[in-house]
Amino acid sequence: MRTGPSSWFRDGSADAVRARNESAWLIPKGQERVNHGLRKDMRRFDDADEIDAVIVGCGAGGATMMQRLARAGWRVAALDAGPFWDPERDWVSDEAGSHHIYWTEPRVISGSDPVPLGSNNSGRGVGGSMVHFAGYVPRLHPSDFRTYSQDGVGADWPMAYADLQPYYEDIEGELPVAGEDWPWGEPHRYPHSPHPVSGNGLIFKRGADALGIEARVGPVAIPNGRFGHRQHCIYRGFCLQGCKVNAKASPLITHVPDALANGAEVRADSMVTRIEYDERTGRATGVRYMRHGVERFQRAAHVIVAGYSIETPRLLLHSTSKRFPDGMCNDHDLVGRYLMVQGAPQTGGRFADEIRMYKAPPPEVSSEHFYETDPTKPYRRGFSIQNVSPLPVTWSEHFAGQGIWGNRLREYMRDYVHWATLGALCEFLPLPENRVTLAEETDRHGMPVANFSYSQCDNDHALMDAAAGVMEDIMHAAGAEDVVTFNRFAHLVGGARMGEDETRGVVDRDCRSFAVENLLITDGSVLPTQGSANPALTIMAVTARAADRLVKDRSG
Ligand SMILES: Cc1cc2nc3c(=O)[nH]c(=O)nc-3n(C[C@H](O)[C@H](O)[C@H](O)COP(=O)(O)OP(=O)(O)OC[C@H]3O[C@@H](n4cnc5c(N)ncnc54)[C@H](O)[C@@H]3O)c2cc1C
Ligand code: SF4
Repeated sequence: MRTGPSSWFRDGSADAVRARNESAWLIPKGQERVNHGLRKDMRRFDDADEIDAVIVGCGAGGATMMQRLARAGWRVAALDAGPFWDPERDWVSDEAGSHHIYWTEPRVISGSDPVPLGSNNSGRGVGGSMVHFAGYVPRLHPSDFRTYSQDGVGADWPMAYADLQPYYEDIEGELPVAGEDWPWGEPHRYPHSPHPVSGNGLIFKRGADALGIEARVGPVAIPNGRFGHRQHCIYRGFCLQGCKVNAKASPLITHVPDALANGAEVRADSMVTRIEYDERTGRATGVRYMRHGVERFQRAAHVIVAGYSIETPRLLLHSTSKRFPDGMCNDHDLVGRYLMVQGAPQTGGRFADEIRMYKAPPPEVSSEHFYETDPTKPYRRGFSIQNVSPLPVTWSEHFAGQGIWGNRLREYMRDYVHWATLGALCEFLPLPENRVTLAEETDRHGMPVANFSYSQCDNDHALMDAAAGVMEDIMHAAGAEDVVTFNRFAHLVGGARMGEDETRGVVDRDCRSFAVENLLITDGSVLPTQGSANPALTIMAVTARAADRLVKDRSG
């Protein structure tokens, strides 16, 4: 464990984390991956009980909220549409065998730049999308909270970086995060020192050094060493398929065990189809959900929605009533709008040496050198660059997407171990026309599916081109013989954003909806902008802050 000036970071030591979140110690020691006793003996509420809070979705936002509320003594249940995963039983170290961990229910895509949805966007089941996330957890920069006033684009948040900073530190301790001292945004440190650098990361550092671009190792949500009863990373590179080792963080192992130990219930295989509303009191009364083919209703004093940026707006839009004919909390036509993906081009470089890019966590080294607006450029905001490590099936899809088939594709695949890859995350702007609406088509529960419409603006296009240009320069500077760029997208946030007032947001800075007093939204939907940072850490920090406020508010 690293030591240093205490003013640089909160106490991320194992003992301090354990005192507030014991999850890593509730996982069994040794080869067992799941504490079956904890699950078997978990508290179970009756549908007719009015519990303190029902949470829709048990992913990054939902599980963090559940753990916080359970610790505060709330009677809380999280309902998730997917299964309660057992890493040993359910996950395989195989790309093609991992599709069941993605959200594969039908969705419609449209717009001038439709975004393919599936493995690269959202997960299902307890732990949410972080079960198969890549593990990279940078913070936003202070500028991300005021892009409109600073750069004339995007939106200002109703909070500042300083409001989130202590929650960033708490979550970084709980995941926990390993990485070098971070010089960008507000400089900070991480509780664990960085992991050793892979061949892929070394290529990035070599190319970046040659061009005078600073690149650093980390931050990854993978302890560098054992943490509690979690095992050390074995650098086998299957983070996107669910880490069977329990080395990579996901709420399934970082927040759910502690929540169960503190009396929360996780109700898996429970698809919420509607939030019910009492016209008389103006309050949400609970949620209607499907479990094993039967419709049920869970009563609750608070409803907290955390179903991910597409499913959260979909559920709100579907929850119509006399008071909300166009969907719950949608008085100002904001639900479903301002969705954002990040432009995520990847650039591969072929080297004479074997690189074996898969032998490490997928992103490891990164640079935020191009993150902020550069007034000499024709675009606003920026991008980050990270090394990434597509596995063979994804790699073949990249080339096939370029129209490369047959013998040429076989050649590229035979050469797989010689390639290194970089990925950029470009800050696409929040635009009102990029939105979720309800389609005509319905799912197996009779609920209209989401129609996700996406179109890029000129600034988005310019950022993609600029990022690809820099990555190609880095690959050439590192000595690549062949360089190829693939255009793609990653992540998804927004759709029920926070704002100063109800004309600018669906929820306030504490994630409480403006329209329904006892309804909160605590997932990626509430982010007004996204920066060039991967979103999970920010989602958890925003949620931890909202939980703090909610608990303090109720206890007066
Ligand atoms: C391949 C991939 C790689 C990624 N890599 C990174 C990374 O390196 N770093 C990073 O920061 N982020 C990464 N992300 C993104 C990150 O995982 C997500 O942004 C984050 O998990 C979203 O959190 P959330 O709380 O909004 O939703 P989720 O974590 O997706 O949780 C939503 C949960 O709600 C459930 N649900 C949805 N609708 C309903 C309903 N109606 N009823 C009941 N349950 C419902 C779902 O089953 C799911 O479990 C990655 C994502 C993917 C897919
Ligand atoms: S590389 Fe490490 S964190 Fe990723 S799946 Fe393998 S053991 Fe888990």
